[in-house]
Amino acid sequence: MGSGKVTDWQGKRVTVAGLGVSGVPAAKVLHGLGALVTVVNDGDDERSRAQAAELEALGITVRLGDGATLPEGTELIVTAPGWRPDKPLFAAAAEAGVPVWGDVELAWQLRGPDAAPWLAVTGTNGKTTTVQMLASILEAAGLRTAAVGNIGVSLLDVVLGEEQYDVLAVELSSYQLHWAPSLRAHSAAVLNLAPDHLDWHGSMEAYAADKGRIYEGNRIACVYNVADKATEDLVREADVEEGCRAIGFTLGTPGPSQLGVVEGILVDRAFVENRQKNAQELAEVSDVNPPAPHNIANALAAAALARAFGVPATAVRDGLRAFTPDAHRIAHVADVDGVAYVDDSKATNTHAAEASLAAYESIVWIAGGLAKGAAFEELVVKSAKRLRGAVLIGADRALIREALARHAPEVPVVDLERTDTGAMRAAVREARGLARAGDTVLLAPACASMDMFTNYNKRGDAFAEAVRELGVGA
Ligand code: ADP
Repeated sequence: MGSGKVTDWQGKRVTVAGLGVSGVPAAKVLHGLGALVTVVNDGDDERSRAQAAELEALGITVRLGDGATLPEGTELIVTAPGWRPDKPLFAAAAEAGVPVWGDVELAWQLRGPDAAPWLAVTGTNGKTTTVQMLASILEAAGLRTAAVGNIGVSLLDVVLGEEQYDVLAVELSSYQLHWAPSLRAHSAAVLNLAPDHLDWHGSMEAYAADKGRIYEGNRIACVYNVADKATEDLVREADVEEGCRAIGFTLGTPGPSQLGVVEGILVDRAFVENRQKNAQELAEVSDVNPPAPHNIANALAAAALARAFGVPATAVRDGLRAFTPDAHRIAHVADVDGVAYVDDSKATNTHAAEASLAAYESIVWIAGGLAKGAAFEELVVKSAKRLRGAVLIGADRALIREALARHAPEVPVVDLERTDTGAMRAAVREARGLARAGDTVLLAPACASMDMFTNYNKRGDAFAEAVRELGVGA
């Protein structure tokens, strides 16, 4: 039972590692196919006991409080994607020659013979937005499709469900790719590559290699970011099907086999007749919502995948026009006294924050939270000239304050020295004091939110609420 296709599950001894969003359904599905399923789980809390009782009632074995020991006779492990590869369970599996699959690999293996092909997207930032844009474009072309995967829609549900699809727009995380050895996409894109989740992967090289897995076995196109050489390197290293093409996207003028931008128009010089001479207009920059540079890059990547699937140019335009971004991604909250207030709470790392800071000319920046080991020097150096001021909150704000003091000493900084939830209201008030008409107050924390909020949604909501209060009090 390697990474080849498994057709007969009857009596196979499968260990499911981790209860939870992917583990419980995986265990049920495998049990339903006739496998002998044992679930192992580190925790032994009330919630896992309830889940265990549900599975045990079906005849599935569950071991709580012991996620480290490989059950006797295991032929395959199906793991929750978040489980770190350096866990003892996996060392035991490697020793015993037992393959390990994640939730995506399981879905890939269980899809039917006429299953829809996958257009896959990964990258450090922009995955969800790009996959949603792609689904919108595919829909505009009249195709039956859905945005699935890491975006919160289980691939297992989709491949086993009743609904028929022509093609799927699949978001994949680096964790999921790590555990998906036999996945072969129709075409795939790596949007960008910046250090993230290095504690999980062990090193930047290992992180990049896992992201690069998305190109393995691609049939039609490997889409890369011309501005991010690491993504192109991954294409070069991938083992793809004969005839599969490398397609670049760029915010500049595209060369042959690229998509890019010419005088405010998104153009395709890849999927056209005679690409040495011809280009096809796809859409206008103003069709992209919001038309920030990094988001235009996302739109080009989505367009490249859609064009690789044979979608006409008009559908790219219509799909982009129909797309609206999810909340907390460069969301314009309000204008107060000529100052725009923008919520990019989803900018949870420095790479994302750098992209959103690049989208505005004069900014009062609200930042801080949990740094997750990141350094802020480069971000501050690149963004300094756009900063009217900065307001800092959260546990690791000192790191940002020090970077500002070193590289942008002229920028006024208000350090609120607060990590309570109510600090956002104070931050917005301080930002208002620093801003002048025409400026943008931008929440782009460059940090995770969990020191002050349940998640980035709550952080963004608190910002929007505080902005609305400003408006009322004005
Ligand atoms: P992901 O699913 O990869 O987390 P999202 O589409 O949810 O990506 O966007 C997350 C954040 O990353 C956005 O709020 C924005 O700040 C930033 N971002 C989006 N696209 C890009 C990009 N192409 N390059 C850099 N940062 C980006």
